[in-house]
This record gives sequence, structure tokens and C-alpha cells, in this order.
Amino acid sequence: MRKSIISNRRIIQAIIGAIVIAGTYYFNINLLYLVGAGAITGILFGKVFCRWMCPLGFIMELVMGSNPDAKQQQMYNYHKIGCPIAWISGMTNRISLFKIKRDDSKCIDCGKCDKECYISTLNNECSLYKDSKKNSAVQYSCSKCMKCVDVCPTNSLEYKI
Ligand code: SF4
Ligand code: SF4
Repeated sequence: MRKSIISNRRIIQAIIGAIVIAGTYYFNINLLYLVGAGAITGILFGKVFCRWMCPLGFIMELVMGSNPDAKQQQMYNYHKIGCPIAWISGMTNRISLFKIKRDDSKCIDCGKCDKECYISTLNNECSLYKDSKKNSAVQYSCSKCMKCVDVCPTNSLEYKI
């Protein structure tokens, strides 16, 4: 995934979120279909619904951003609890077709990815580059914000098949 796409994530989320609201309202779509959409996108892309498609997730992120000191903890809690769509798509993080992968040969162990990630920051057992720890990017609470990919100076981290 290109960094230019990641830097426009919130715009993409706002547009898709508006389409989700309009579609649900005008076509009277049953919320179970949205859960199904979360499951399908989850199998393909992991837990992308929360940070790329969900109108509620968009609003929650704005609210959390208003308190930078508490932001990491709030992000972690929110993406741990989430909603039925998040519960299902979170479980697909381990099996999804697209994943965040690290190229060992490019990694310089700078640790920038872990500092940017709310999972690695708050859970000592998780890391994006330390092989002795659990991979943050396949945890249930990884919402595919792609901040780790964006911040990696060597493009060692990539979101791909
Ligand atoms: S995409 Fe990366 S930075 Fe974001 S939650 Fe997942 S592992 Fe952490
Ligand atoms: S940000 Fe990139 S180079 Fe730095 S530790 Fe993480 S994966 Fe390695």
C-alpha cells in the first residue's frame, strides 16, 4: 500500500462512512449485512472496517484525538472492545489475505513502528520488529491504521499479500 493512500486514510474513511450511512438509510439495509461486510473485508484485508470504512469509528477517532495524552490508551481500549463488526473482523487479522509483513533485510531496528503503534506501546509482549515478541499486526486489536507502515523509514514494513 502506498504511503500517499495511508496519509489520506481519514478522507477515504469519511467518504466510505458517508456511503455506508446513506446506503443503510435509503435502502433500509439490515445491520446484519454490515456485519457480513465486515467479515468479508476482514478475510481479505484484516480488521480494516474500523479505520477505513466505519462512520462511528471516524467520529470516535476525532473524539480520541482531542486528548493526545490519553489517545494511545483510548485507541487500545476502543479497538479491544469495538462492536460486532470489529469482533468478527478482528479475529480475521491472523488469517487475512493481505497482511503487514516485515522484510528482515531492510529493517534497521530503529523501533519507530513500535512507538507509533498503540498495541506495541501498551502491551510489552507485542512488537512489530522484535521476533521474540508477539506480532502486533496480527493481534485482534490491530485496526489496520497503517501508522507502522507509514512511519517505517526503510519500507521494511509493507501491507501486502
Ligand atoms: S496497523 Fe500497525 S500501527 Fe496500526 S494498530 Fe496495527 S500494528 Fe499497530
Ligand atoms: S520502523 Fe521499520 S526499520 Fe524501524 S524497526 Fe520498525 S520495521 Fe524496522
